[in-house]
Amino acid sequence: MDTNSPDITIVVPLLNEQDNIKPLYEQITKALDSKHDYEVIFIDDGSTDDSFDILTQLHNSDTKVKVVKFRRNFGQTAALSAGFDLAKGKIIVALDADLQNDPADIPKIIDKLNEGYDVVSGWRKVRHDHALTRLLPSLIANWLIARITGVKLHDFGCTLKAYRSDILSEINLYGEMHRFIPALASWSGAKITEIVVNHRPRTAGVAKYGLMRTFKVLLDLITVKFLGSYSTKPIYIFGGLGILSGIGATLSGAVVLYQKYISAQHLAMNRNPLLVLAAMLVTATIQLILMGLLAEMLVRTYHESQSRPTYVIKELLQ
Ligand code: UDP
Ligand code: MG
Repeated sequence: MDTNSPDITIVVPLLNEQDNIKPLYEQITKALDSKHDYEVIFIDDGSTDDSFDILTQLHNSDTKVKVVKFRRNFGQTAALSAGFDLAKGKIIVALDADLQNDPADIPKIIDKLNEGYDVVSGWRKVRHDHALTRLLPSLIANWLIARITGVKLHDFGCTLKAYRSDILSEINLYGEMHRFIPALASWSGAKITEIVVNHRPRTAGVAKYGLMRTFKVLLDLITVKFLGSYSTKPIYIFGGLGILSGIGATLSGAVVLYQKYISAQHLAMNRNPLLVLAAMLVTATIQLILMGLLAEMLVRTYHESQSRPTYVIKELLQ
């Protein structure tokens, strides 16, 4: 390993934030300088304004500043991923570039991590965003994510979080999934906590997201839950549903037979909703179980072709 590695890597994804970069850089420097050994990685996620020129200037004047420029806009999650992949620090802190997160919180979040946690998540307790398009959807989303993942955080969407680098190296991110890192990490056994952080209104540039993101997040939540709970045994969920619909098919079939042969009140074939239901459920049963078997084959290919184990080891003494 590189012996010159800094202790801490700050990861900042950004898209068209030309007016925020310099003040952000100054605030990070003020919060960390002299007391900490760190690097800052800015990821320019396909900006079309002067962001990259400003980043280049910073890089030329400060060796702590590293810059990644994407060929086009790949999204905040991909940008964070690139930062995590390049980070050399043992502690990684991510934050937004728009000055809504406060760099003055970085030392606090690192201190919390050093109390023995693997992930510390920021909680924007007092939040300065649009009430209807951001605050309400995120209230609902946070409640759902906490319920479904079993990880009790108030604010999954806050970018300001600190991570131990070994936790991140095990996690691959897709879609809008950076907010699920605490959940994914906790499922592999990481210790997670949160601290209240400062949140400020955006004063320059424009917000990049609207209501659409909430729907993406909900779809990602389904994926995450499925992968987290069933990725090594998909037949349990597909097969489980298959068995349920098999039971339904048997019951409604039995009622149809009873109507036809025992009580004389049977309906014409094409008029009996229960008969239609029975036929549909039989089809669903077969489909679901076959889908489960296909998923089982996919899972085996996934794990075996990439020699991905179905477990996570923390330490190995041998
Ligand atoms: N961002 C990015 N790529 C995108 C969209 C946003 O890197 O495709 C950055 C953006 O520049 C900012 C952060 O992600 O630093 C959060 O974006 P924004 O402030 O628009 O979202 P919000 O604060 O509402 O979560
Ligand atoms: Mg913002």
